[in-house]
Amino acid sequence: MIQVTIFNEFLHEKENPAVAAHYPEGIHEVIADALADEEDLVVFTATLAELEHGLTDEILDDTDVLIWWGHKAHEDVEDEIVDRVYQRVLAGMGLIVLHSAHFSKIFRRLMGTSCGLLWRNIGEKERVWVVDPTHPITEGLDAYFELPETEMYGEVFDVPPPDELIFLSWFAGGEVFRSGMTWRRGRGRIFYFRPGHETYPIYHDPDVQLVLTNAVWWAVFDGNKAARGIGSPINVEDPIEDI
Ligand code: ZN
Repeated sequence: MIQVTIFNEFLHEKENPAVAAHYPEGIHEVIADALADEEDLVVFTATLAELEHGLTDEILDDTDVLIWWGHKAHEDVEDEIVDRVYQRVLAGMGLIVLHSAHFSKIFRRLMGTSCGLLWRNIGEKERVWVVDPTHPITEGLDAYFELPETEMYGEVFDVPPPDELIFLSWFAGGEVFRSGMTWRRGRGRIFYFRPGHETYPIYHDPDVQLVLTNAVWWAVFDGNKAARGIGSPINVEDPIEDI
């Protein structure tokens, strides 16, 4: 079984009726529902208000892929938990970073840049183009999909050059944005996916749900766990050969 844990700060939904209208049980529950039919996948959720934000060692020990949604409370995420998640990513846990989580502590730590961008929220149309059709995260999509009302994110998005650029968005207002990118950090695979502003029903969209499902399977580590040196320096006192 592959375990997915969905972290959502879960604040807007309780404070803003316009958000609660789309996500009465929280964004995390809608994403969990979208993944519920996947065979061999078990889904857990975690929220800011829980003890250790729901991201205890026990939960993370079993988490293959962590999904992160946050917006207004990035600074309320305890540094100790960020350190914990960071080490797990280096060790091979996949991380899917959604929308405004571009500014989360964990994503900024992993990128090492400001992760700044442009934004405008007037409910304009977004067209998300597949620009890497060889990538498994795009499987089952058409050449592009559209979201009728979104918050615009524009370039420059201050992140390091990605390993892979998968989606490029165009907005009715004219801006473009690199909406799907991947990086590797240590053994961990990271996918940033832009759509997801809380006042629109973005996570109910079938194409968005397909991307998230594909991304979970892509982010599961399947490489070599025997090679050492990731996360800390190791003193190898004994030579492999006679010197
Ligand atoms: Zn937003």
